[in-house]
Amino acid sequence: MPLVAFPPSLAVMYESSVCPEIGLLHRIDEYIMIENNSQEKYALFDRWGKHRYYPISQFYKNQFGEKVYKVSVSIAETCPNRQDNSRMPLCIFCDEWGSAAYHLERDKSLREQIIVNRDKIARRYRARKFLVYFQSYTNTFDRVSELEQRFNIALAEEAIVGIVLGTRPDCLPARILPLLKKTHEQHYVMVELGLQSFFDHHLTFLQRGHNVQSGYDAIKKLHEHTGVDIGIHLIFGLPDESDEEIIKTANIINQLPVCNVKLHNLHVLTNTPLADMYHKGQFKPVELDEYIEKVSLFLQHLSPDIAVQRLAAVASRWDELIAPQWTKEKMRPTQMIEDHLKDHDLWQGQYCKTVKSNIKETYTKEKSL
Ligand code: SF4
Repeated sequence: MPLVAFPPSLAVMYESSVCPEIGLLHRIDEYIMIENNSQEKYALFDRWGKHRYYPISQFYKNQFGEKVYKVSVSIAETCPNRQDNSRMPLCIFCDEWGSAAYHLERDKSLREQIIVNRDKIARRYRARKFLVYFQSYTNTFDRVSELEQRFNIALAEEAIVGIVLGTRPDCLPARILPLLKKTHEQHYVMVELGLQSFFDHHLTFLQRGHNVQSGYDAIKKLHEHTGVDIGIHLIFGLPDESDEEIIKTANIINQLPVCNVKLHNLHVLTNTPLADMYHKGQFKPVELDEYIEKVSLFLQHLSPDIAVQRLAAVASRWDELIAPQWTKEKMRPTQMIEDHLKDHDLWQGQYCKTVKSNIKETYTKEKSL
């Protein structure tokens, strides 16, 4: 499989600046290709909790020794595209709540939101460890002192073991990096970047207001100056999206210091620019069968070391969803993707090399059981 033509500046950057823990060069030295029907293949599935991809739940188990759940909070109130004096259009898919899971709670204090949502999840799943997920809008758009205060409130709460911060790639000013580094030195910190695509023409269609280079710059800054874990949000089901683009996306991500990805299908919500396009017949959402093929192809080319947070979008407010209707369902699309992988004997990293030491470690653990 030919490697993607990597932006030269980044290739140099990671050759010269890679840290030994993340060790991109070190990892490349030890890469092997896993053969079909080999023991290594089944060792991977065992390591992934019998899944054919690396779910984030397994990643958290490795990090924290048990299941960890995200507690979503809605604190940030705007983003560069939505601020009053912005000349930028809105992202075409974004509803008025800016991706907030619990928009009705945003009048509550941060502490209240954490307690209510944490206790709800604790009761439902008997969970004991949580990450506070600053989800809505752009969470690095506020003053550093305010952010620091929020981090302190979150991390002071019982059973909170870290924070996850959702933001745009072009919204990571240098002044925020020391705070991320300092917090990360004492607690788990992940930054989720809404990069959405590694192709500028798709970002233009989505009206994101940033380009792919902003994504590379953000990853570089976070990696070099903070050491936090980096997650990437991606959207599939874009107009004229090709299989080559999906494969190339996986190949690019494999070469970046990225810890996990979160996959969404482009879906239409009310009161969004995409809704207007949909009603005018200018946009047709991807069918579930086609989306399953796209995700499977992506996973086959994604490194087995990169965890997957989510396989498809879920519309949390059904009354806002226009299309496709399968986006209402939380479990069925995920289960169908898992079934498709199994029925066709596909798995994450099938066409990608993986780290030899990880495989060895899995064998050693199994033998000692
Ligand atoms: S998706 Fe994020 S950046 Fe885009 S308009 Fe919505 S809140 Fe703003």
